[in-house]
Amino acid sequence: MCCNHYQAMDLQLLEETLAAHDQPRFRARQVWAWTARGARSFEEMTDLPASLREALAGELPFSSLELRDEAHAGDGTVKALFATVDGRPLEAVLMRYREPSPLRTRQRRTICVSSQSGCPLTCTFCATGQMRFARNLTASEIVDQALHFRRLEGDAGQVTNCVFMGMGEPMLNLDNVLGACELLPDLGIGHRHTAISTVGWIPGIERLAEQEMPLRLALSLHAADEALRSELMPVNDRYPLADVIGACHAFYARKRRRVFVEYVMLAGVNDRYEQALALARLLAPARAGEQTIFKVNLIPYNPTDSPFEGSTRASIAAFRDVLLAHEIPVTIRLTRGRDIDAACGQLAARSP
Ligand code: SF4
Repeated sequence: MCCNHYQAMDLQLLEETLAAHDQPRFRARQVWAWTARGARSFEEMTDLPASLREALAGELPFSSLELRDEAHAGDGTVKALFATVDGRPLEAVLMRYREPSPLRTRQRRTICVSSQSGCPLTCTFCATGQMRFARNLTASEIVDQALHFRRLEGDAGQVTNCVFMGMGEPMLNLDNVLGACELLPDLGIGHRHTAISTVGWIPGIERLAEQEMPLRLALSLHAADEALRSELMPVNDRYPLADVIGACHAFYARKRRRVFVEYVMLAGVNDRYEQALALARLLAPARAGEQTIFKVNLIPYNPTDSPFEGSTRASIAAFRDVLLAHEIPVTIRLTRGRDIDAACGQLAARSP
């Protein structure tokens, strides 16, 4: 843990409070170490003087977020609805998996966090895109989502992975997203297990490629032809697909990190045979030695208030087979938390 971390977090308030109590500088590190390990209150931080713990509890909010609601799905998925201090709603999701993480020592637990309250982009299939955009979240508000689940799981079930696929376009708030990413390893979530998703905001992809942190890139693609993509995702008019794919190639050339392609399966819209072929052609030349640059995740669509229907299992499987025939690595994502509106595209806090 490095002291610079504190510059990225709203722990500035902590430092000010400690300074007002004439505390040495290392106290901030102590408090953060306890917090990152899942402490639930200042009271638990037993290597701090009791009088200081009491003072901090009286003067400093323990989190920048207030938990307003929490829903638990049958498959173990948990969705938390938070409000910021100025009352802005946001959601985050914890997904528990049975198989071990790539570290092989712990069960995989992935959190999906929000980078904005609402979203200024208007992807037509996305529930968040239909709600009012409020503002960017601070690094502290992003980390506090992760800390909430860190506390919920305790030491027995630490969170291992993080994806920025909740509310918002992370590249529109990249300073705070990166500030949060600097802190996540202290919670046990490594940079190699953290993925930042984008609709194809090229300046953000370029900045991410310049980062020392080995973060992963995920591209929400959803259609391989420009016209349909612009219809589904108006941002495509600004950053056309051909340029976005070029930026992903440059990212790979620099980082040697495979790019995940997210493709939500919409019945009769983007799930036909020719469209699978077009996607295969778009991604196929992308091979660097034995490693392919892209890996596709096909996402079953979850019913929201939008006019779209999800593709059938048979058409998703047929789509996958076309990609496999063209040697594109592809998986069909497990649907998680559907019964609590926590699955992809369903994060839309209606009221905090
Ligand atoms: S898909 Fe992402 S970028 Fe598009 S509207 Fe939804 S949250 Fe925003």
